[in-house]
Amino acid sequence: MRLKDDIMELFRNELSLLTKYFAHPQKITILPHKDPDGDAIGACLGWYNVLIAVGHDVVVISPDEVPENLRWMPGAAHIVTFSSDKGTASDRLAKSELLLLLDFNDLKRVGELANVVRTLDIPRVNIDHHPYPDTAISQVLISDTGASSTCELSFRVMKGLGYKPGIESAVCLYSGIMTDTGMLNHNSSNPGLYRIIAELLEAGIDKDSIHKELFHSNSLSRTRLMGHALGNKLQVISSGRVAYIALSAEELRMYEYKPGDTEGLVNMPLSVKGIVVSILLTERKEGFVKLSFRSRGGIAINAYSTRYFSGGGHSNAAGGEFVGSLDDAVSVICSTIGPFLDGD
Ligand code: 5GP
Ligand code: MN
Repeated sequence: MRLKDDIMELFRNELSLLTKYFAHPQKITILPHKDPDGDAIGACLGWYNVLIAVGHDVVVISPDEVPENLRWMPGAAHIVTFSSDKGTASDRLAKSELLLLLDFNDLKRVGELANVVRTLDIPRVNIDHHPYPDTAISQVLISDTGASSTCELSFRVMKGLGYKPGIESAVCLYSGIMTDTGMLNHNSSNPGLYRIIAELLEAGIDKDSIHKELFHSNSLSRTRLMGHALGNKLQVISSGRVAYIALSAEELRMYEYKPGDTEGLVNMPLSVKGIVVSILLTERKEGFVKLSFRSRGGIAINAYSTRYFSGGGHSNAAGGEFVGSLDDAVSVICSTIGPFLDGD
C-alpha cells in the first residue's frame, strides 16, 4: 500500500485510541526486535524522546545488546538490555501501563522477552512496516508495508497525534530512515518521504554528523572482517544467481566481532551483475546460525526464509535462524535455493 501523507485518513480509529492512551501520563515501555537495527532503535528513541517531552514515564527495553554504532543516539544511554539485565527489565515491565512494539510484528522477534510480555495484561500498540502482521499481539496495530521504515511511519503517526518531534527525536527518526533505505537506495521512491526528511532537517538535525556516526565510524576490525568475507568467503552458486557468505564463530572471534559489525555486508554481493539473491550466514554460537537474505525484483526471499529458516521480513530483505551447524545451514541453502528460484 502506498502511504498517504495524511495518515489520519488511513488509521483514524487507531489514532483516536492512541490519543486516549496518551491523554494522561503513563508508564510506557517500548520494545524493538532482537538484533535491533537502526530503524528499530531509531523508532524506539524517536518515540522515547517525544513521549518524555509530554510528561510520560518511558523506558526502552532491548531484547539484546544495542550495536555500538547506534549508542550515540539521544536517549540510548537509558536503554535497558533484557539479555544482560533481566531483573531491571522484568521489574519495569511489571509496572508498565502501556507497551509500544516497534519494527516487528510477531512476538517471536523479541526472543525470550516474549515470555514476560505474554504475562502482562496491558494495552499493546504495534507500529511496523513488515508484511503479514500477527494481529493478535496488539490492540492497536498501525502497519503499513508502503512505509520505508518504522521511523517514517512513526513520524506520520506523531504528526497525526499532533506531536512535533523535537531535535532529539528527529535525529533518531532520520537515522532509522537512512539505515532502512540503505541511504535512500531502496524503498524510497515516495515523494512524501522527502517531505518528511525536509521537516526533520527543519527540526535542526545535523545530517552530516548523523551520517558520520552511522556510516563512517567503523572499527578497523569490522573493515577487516568485511574484507575477509568478500575476499575469501564469498561463494557463488545456482549458475551465478546466488551468492552466500558463511562466517564461523571462530572467524567472528578472530575479527573481534561485535553486534552490528556485519551490517550492510549482505547487500554487497547483490551489486555483482547477475546475482539476484545474497545470503549471509553467521554462526553466533555453536549450533546456532543467524541468516540475512537480500533479493532483487520480484523474488520474495521472505517466503524462502519462512519456509526453510523459521524467518520472515520484507520481500527483498529478510532474516532467519537455523539450529544446527554452519555446514548444515549451507547444505540446506545449496539444495533448496535453486529449486526455489525456478519456482519449484
Ligand atoms: P537483516 O538482514 O537486516 O538483519 O534483516 C532484514 C529484515 O528481515 C528486517 O526487516 C528484519 O526485521 C527481518 N528479520 C531479520 N531476522 C529475522 C528473523 O529471524 N525472523 C523474522 N521474521 N524476520 C527477520
Ligand atoms: Mn524496519
